[in-house]
Amino acid sequence: MTTASREYWNEQLETLPWAEVERWQAERIAPTIARIRAGSAMYRDMFADLPREVKISEFADLARLPFTLKDRVRAAQDAATDERPLGDNQTASLKNIVQTLSSSGTTGKPLYYGLTAHDCEVFADTVANTWFTAGLRAQDVVAHLVGLPMVAGGLPYADGFRRIGATLAWLGGFPTDRILREMRRLRCTALLATTSFGLYLSEQWDAVGHETGVPSRLGKVLCGGEPGLNEREIRDRIASGLGVSHLREVMGLGDVISGMWAECERQEGMHFNAQKYVAIELIDPDSGEVVRWREGGTGEIVYTTFDREATPMLRYRSRDHALVVGVGCSCGRTSPRIRCVGRTDDMLIYKGMNVFPAALRDLVGSRFAGSVQPMLRVWKDAKDQVRFDYPIAVDVEAVDALSSAEADALSQAIETEVRDQLQVRVRVTVLAPNSLPKSAYKTSLLSVRGA
Ligand SMILES: [Zn+2]
Repeated sequence: MTTASREYWNEQLETLPWAEVERWQAERIAPTIARIRAGSAMYRDMFADLPREVKISEFADLARLPFTLKDRVRAAQDAATDERPLGDNQTASLKNIVQTLSSSGTTGKPLYYGLTAHDCEVFADTVANTWFTAGLRAQDVVAHLVGLPMVAGGLPYADGFRRIGATLAWLGGFPTDRILREMRRLRCTALLATTSFGLYLSEQWDAVGHETGVPSRLGKVLCGGEPGLNEREIRDRIASGLGVSHLREVMGLGDVISGMWAECERQEGMHFNAQKYVAIELIDPDSGEVVRWREGGTGEIVYTTFDREATPMLRYRSRDHALVVGVGCSCGRTSPRIRCVGRTDDMLIYKGMNVFPAALRDLVGSRFAGSVQPMLRVWKDAKDQVRFDYPIAVDVEAVDALSSAEADALSQAIETEVRDQLQVRVRVTVLAPNSLPKSAYKTSLLSVRGA
């Protein structure tokens, strides 16, 4: 099934009705389970209470399998030996594993995953499909701005760019001023960066143009790695700063495949592009019940790889909390379109009300555009704090220097707006311009006092 066409990377699967995609996947999941059980000590242990043959006759039967949690994967990793450096979920021999990748490690120490030559092929094809959906083509010169080859967004992304035939310009890792200059000199037509780094670049793009004297050829911008493009204000700032209208959000998961979701030309939510190798479910994070893919639905995304040899994942809980923007699309793709609204782990509870830091950021960024930067920082008193019986402390960054009276008035206005819109109380501190940290990789919206 590699029917490349002008509009799609894999026309057959991308345009097949979603129920039929799930039927096609279900046929492949059953034999996979038997193979994984034979090869993975972790899954043998997790599935000890299941019948010898788990019957997956339709997609919904996938729910017969238990979830795989990151802590379980971490424990399996800790059981590493010389023969099995990837631990108890290493399902291929070292002889057949050709690469390791680390998950980004925004929480805890990084986890390592393996790839066989076949897995590399699966990654490259999936990531290429994702870039194709995001509008990249063979004639593009792409500035790849993730600096570390070993992270999920490193080498696999590079492989994906090359697979679609684009010209890879791997500038990530150089100092920012050099990145900006070389992008002009190499006539880059596209870039991929984290959303916060994209925002940062957009502030300097014009100045570099004047300095190098090379007119911008940039036309396509792909951002992701963290929530942010949900927010109109952030989108507009990146698009206008870099002088593009083609701005697409992309997303993957290091533990599964690093590039699986991308926005099409509609730019309204990310399509799933890994259907040839990975099955997805949406679940209620509290009950674990499967939630139907329907417009307006929300839940945590669960991934099942059914064509991964070295370190497979069955019903892996991503902790990514998604909003389903739509099912079906004017572009002809049938996969659900989502926005990632935050990490299940980031969810805070103020007197019984759920709130995601990203939702706070989106609200404040849109209602107070021009007064505050579309970034903020939420303070917790302890790493594992989820519940708040008192107003949640939030730092925002002013666009212009303010007097203390102006800052007080702005804090109060934001506190009132958040209470009215989200039924959550916050205590806002307005910081001076350029006080919030901006990272080239991932920016967490949550900080812990004293940490
Ligand atoms: Zn579409």
